[in-house]
Amino acid sequence: MLVDEDILIDAGTGVGDLSIEQLVKIDHIFITHSHLDHVTSIPFLVDTVCWMRDRPITVYSSAATIQILKEHLFNWKIWPDFSEIPNGDQMCMVYREISVNETLEFEGGRKITAIPAVHTVPAVGYLLDSGEATMIFSGDTTTNDALWEHANKARNLKYLIIETAFPNKERDIAVASKHLCPSMLAEELAKLTRPVEVLVTHLKPGEIHLTMSEIGRNAGKWRPRMLENGMEMTI
Ligand SMILES: [Zn+2]
Ligand SMILES: [Zn+2]
Repeated sequence: MLVDEDILIDAGTGVGDLSIEQLVKIDHIFITHSHLDHVTSIPFLVDTVCWMRDRPITVYSSAATIQILKEHLFNWKIWPDFSEIPNGDQMCMVYREISVNETLEFEGGRKITAIPAVHTVPAVGYLLDSGEATMIFSGDTTTNDALWEHANKARNLKYLIIETAFPNKERDIAVASKHLCPSMLAEELAKLTRPVEVLVTHLKPGEIHLTMSEIGRNAGKWRPRMLENGMEMTI
């Protein structure tokens, strides 16, 4: 998800939809967790734009996730370690750890806070605050009471982007892989005490229609919509 022109939240295959001009402007990449569908575009992005930029790209995540990226992705075997490759007198890429509940502020009063997620590897979600309204990006997560504490107290919460990776017939897989299915999403949304626009992401290709219709049945009172490529939201 691209925030304004300069911040990316996760870097999956959707980054391939962006033009070189758009890619060059990305200064900050916030990663929820180390799974490939969330980090796959960072190596190509950095390799493509490093030489067109005059400052490093900063990759933000938990200390645990950054360690995994260093060991298993930017390790000179899968891909060069761009945090050691200079472009002029700076490196192409730098890491910045962010802890749960830590808030970082960016130009224009924009704030990003790491919030808890529960997944098979260390994971966080992010709360974005424009100064006027907020939105939450759950990241990959299963049942997660702490997420709802943040959602229920967020200032003027406008959007909740939440995953639902599997249809109900695969509830066992959703539980084992620490994701959500529609019935679990409904149980989670029941913990929300305020109205918000719910956008569902991370649906399994091939089961999108089934999963969305189950979400309509299980959690219809929230009128959840599917998050789609090219969709724009304003907070
Ligand atoms: Zn994952
Ligand atoms: Zn994922």
